[in-house]
Amino acid sequence: MGSENNSNKNNLPAVSASGKDSKVVIDLEAEKKEISKRYRHLLRACKSDLDKKDKKIIRLAFDTALEAHKEMRRKSGEPYIYHPIAVAQIVAEEIGLRSAIPVVCALLHDTVEDTYLTLDDIRDLFGPVAEQIIDGLTKIAGVFDHSSSLQAENFRKMLLTLSVDVRVILIKLADRLHNMRTLGSMARDKQLKIASETAYLYAPLAHRLGLYNVKTELDDLALKYTEPDIYITIAEKLRDTKKERDKFISEFIHPIKDELNKQGFKFEIKGRPKSIHSIWEKMKKQGVTFEEIYDLFAIRIIIDSPQSQEKADCWKVYSIVTDSYRPNPDRLRDWISTPKSNGYEALHTTVMSDQGKWVEVQIRSQRMNETAEKGFAAHWKYKESSQESALDEWLTRIREMLENPDSNALDFVDDFKLNLFADEIFVFTPKGDLKTLPVKSTALDFAYEIHTDIGSRCIGAKVNHKLAPISHTLNSGDQVEILTSDKQRPKEDWLSFVITAKAKGRIKSALKDEKRILGEQGKEIFDRKIKHLKIPVAEINMNDILLYYKLPNVLELYYRIAMDAIDLKQLREAVNYKDQRVRSQRTAEPTLEELVKQARGSTDMLVIGENLNKIDYKLSPCCNPIPGDDVFGFITINDGIKIHRVNCPNAMQLMSNFAYRIVKAKWTGQEQLSVLAGIKITGMDDVGVVNNITKVISSELKVNMRSISIESNEGLFEGTIMLFVHDTEHLTKLMKKLSALSGILNVTRIT
Ligand code: MN
Repeated sequence: MGSENNSNKNNLPAVSASGKDSKVVIDLEAEKKEISKRYRHLLRACKSDLDKKDKKIIRLAFDTALEAHKEMRRKSGEPYIYHPIAVAQIVAEEIGLRSAIPVVCALLHDTVEDTYLTLDDIRDLFGPVAEQIIDGLTKIAGVFDHSSSLQAENFRKMLLTLSVDVRVILIKLADRLHNMRTLGSMARDKQLKIASETAYLYAPLAHRLGLYNVKTELDDLALKYTEPDIYITIAEKLRDTKKERDKFISEFIHPIKDELNKQGFKFEIKGRPKSIHSIWEKMKKQGVTFEEIYDLFAIRIIIDSPQSQEKADCWKVYSIVTDSYRPNPDRLRDWISTPKSNGYEALHTTVMSDQGKWVEVQIRSQRMNETAEKGFAAHWKYKESSQESALDEWLTRIREMLENPDSNALDFVDDFKLNLFADEIFVFTPKGDLKTLPVKSTALDFAYEIHTDIGSRCIGAKVNHKLAPISHTLNSGDQVEILTSDKQRPKEDWLSFVITAKAKGRIKSALKDEKRILGEQGKEIFDRKIKHLKIPVAEINMNDILLYYKLPNVLELYYRIAMDAIDLKQLREAVNYKDQRVRSQRTAEPTLEELVKQARGSTDMLVIGENLNKIDYKLSPCCNPIPGDDVFGFITINDGIKIHRVNCPNAMQLMSNFAYRIVKAKWTGQEQLSVLAGIKITGMDDVGVVNNITKVISSELKVNMRSISIESNEGLFEGTIMLFVHDTEHLTKLMKKLSALSGILNVTRIT
C-alpha cells in the first residue's frame, strides 16, 4: 500500500520543500471548497446522460471515500481525497469509462486497502460488481510492495483478475498514471523503483490494451525519473525547435488540406512530435543525435466518415496524400484490413516532403481514432465492431498462459511480456487463413498454433513453398505449410527456439509424459540390478543414492538409468554412500533469505571501495560501472553482490522484480580504486595515430591499458580500448584528451 499510493498516513502535511522549520498553515475552508470544485469537475467528465440513480451512487462513493480518507494526506501535504478524485477523472476522461461503476470504483479504489472500510461494506453500499472490482484492485495493490518477494506471482494474480474484469486493470493504470504525475514528492529511491516498474510493466500493459496516450505519458514520466538529465535535455531541445517544426508542418499539410476541402471531406489534421521517450529510444537504438531526428513526427488525418464508408474514404485520403508527395513503397501499413490485435486501425504511409525529409502520415476515421486513443473502452462503445474477436483472442491467450501450471512465476512474466507485449506478425496457412503470432515466432510455434498434434509431429515446414527447418523464424506475410511425420516426438532442444507460451507448455508436458514412461522402464532395470547384486532391500536408502549421483529426485534417477546415462557399476558404492556422508558432515545450503540478510549486513548503504574484505561484491560485466556512475547493488544467489549502473539495460527488470534484493550503493571518494572501462575511437587512418593514442593514455595520463584493438578500413579506423580508470571524471578527462588529437573523429564510452 503506502509506498505505491504516495500516501502519508498522518494528519499533518509534510514539511515544506525548502526543508526549513517553517510552520505549515492549512486553510481547511479553502481545502473544502477545492475538494468540491474538483468533484464537480469530475462529474462534468462523466456521461452527459447519467440517470438519477447513477448520480446518486457516484455521490455516495465520493462521500464514502471523503469520510474514509478524512485523516489522510499525501506526501505532498495535500488532502488524500485529491488522489481518488484524480484517478476517477482519468478513468472517465482519458480512458473513456464514463459510466457509474468505473467512476465509483476509482473513487473507492484505496479505501479497502488503506482505511477501515471492508469489502462487505462495499457490497452493501454499492453492489456485487463494485465489490468484485474493488476486490481485484485491493489484491493487486500490494503487487509491487517493497517488502514483497513475490512480485512476479502477484503480477500473475493481477492478470488473473484482468481476465475476469478488464476494468480492474484500467483503473489500476489510471491510479499508476496519477502516482507517476505526482512522483515528485517521493524519496529518490522510491521514485526509481516506481518509475522502473512503470517502464517495465505498466507502460507495456497500457500499450497492449491500446491506450496509446496513457502509454506514452507513462514512458515519458518514467524516463523523467530514471534519466532526469536526458529527459530535461530533450524536453528543452524540443521546446527550442517548436517554431521551426510548426512552420514545417503547416507548409507540409497545406496542399493536402486544400484537396480534402475540395473533395468535401470533414476532417481534422494534427501534427505532433514524437514523445521524449521515443526520441530517446531512437537516439540509443540508431546511435544518432537529437539534431538528426528531432524533426521526426507523425501527421495524423482524422476524417469524419460513417462506418460503412470509412475504409473507402481512408484510401481516398491516401490517394490525395500520395498525389501531393511521393510515398516510400516499403512503408505502407494497412492496419484497416488487418487491425492489430489490440484493436488499432489506421493507414500509415511515409512520404517525401519538399524539403527532402520523410514524413509519416496516419489516416484514420474518428471511430478508429477513438479506439487508438482509448483502446478497450472504445470497443464497448462500438460493440458491433469486428474487433471484439481480436480482444477475445487476446484474453484467451492470457488464460492459456495462466492455466499452464508448469511455468514458474518469473518465467511467466517473461513469457507474458514476450507474447503479449511484443509486436505481432501475420502468417498464412496454405489455405490462406490468417494466424497472428508474436514477432520471432518459428515454424514450430506456428505448428503448435494450428494444433498440438501437428506441433508434436512437426519435422519441417515449407515457407513460401521453400523447405525450411522447424526452427526457421517466420516473417509477416509468410505462407507456411507444416510437414509432419508419425515417427516424430517432442524434443528437449525444441524449448530453446520456440517462443510462444502455447508451444512451450505443450512441449514441456509431452516431455514430462515421456520421462514418466521411460522412468518406469528405468525402475525395472534398477530393481533387476539390485537383485543381481544381492543387496537386501532393507539396506537401500534412496536419498543416499540420489546424493551419490547428485540427482534431484527418483524419477530423474530412473529416467537416466533408462537412457543409459548412469553407470550402474557404481551402484554398490552408492548404496554404501551414507557412511562417507556422515563423515564429511555436509552443511546445509543457506536459504535465499539468509543470503540476503548476510549480504546486507548491518548497513543500509554499500560503500564500494571500502570494506573490500568484508563484503563480497563484483562489478557487473553487463554495464561495466565505474566510480562516479549512479549504481545499486543486487544480491545474487551464488555470486555475492553485483554492482549495476542505474541505467543498465537489466536494471529495470531487477528493480521491479526483486526490489527486496536491491542494496543501495555508492562509491567511496578514494582514488586508489581502478576499474575496467572501455572506449571506442574512430578517426582517420594515419601513420602514427595509434602511437599518439597510446602515448596520451599511458604516458600523459598514466592510465593502465588492458587491451587495444584497431581495425582500419578505407582510410578510416575504429579502435576499442579497454583500460583501468579511477572514476567517470578520470575517464571523461581521458576521452577529452583523445578527442583533441588530430585525426580523431569520435570517442565514446562502451557500455
Ligand atoms: Mn491509489
